[in-house]
Amino acid sequence: MIDEKSTAESLGSTRTYGQVRCMNPSCTSRITPQPGQTMAKCPKCGSEWRIFWVKAGLPRVRGPVWETSLKMANAKWDTLTDKKEEK
Ligand SMILES: [Zn+2]
Repeated sequence: MIDEKSTAESLGSTRTYGQVRCMNPSCTSRITPQPGQTMAKCPKCGSEWRIFWVKAGLPRVRGPVWETSLKMANAKWDTLTDKKEEK
């Protein structure tokens, strides 16, 4: 089901200042990073993105935060193996 109102809304505000679009193809909701923030988390799907500031107030998504997925994978691995490696 497509909501016409929200479609028109998103078309009219593609250049929303200070916001980036979630790069998750199944999400594409808008994220508002804090000024100077280098990472932003999507409030909708929880994906984290690296933020690059073209200039003050104009953020861009640089790419996914692999560290986060790695950390999550490691945490899961730890739980699964119940093993603590020295660090
Ligand atoms: Zn998202």
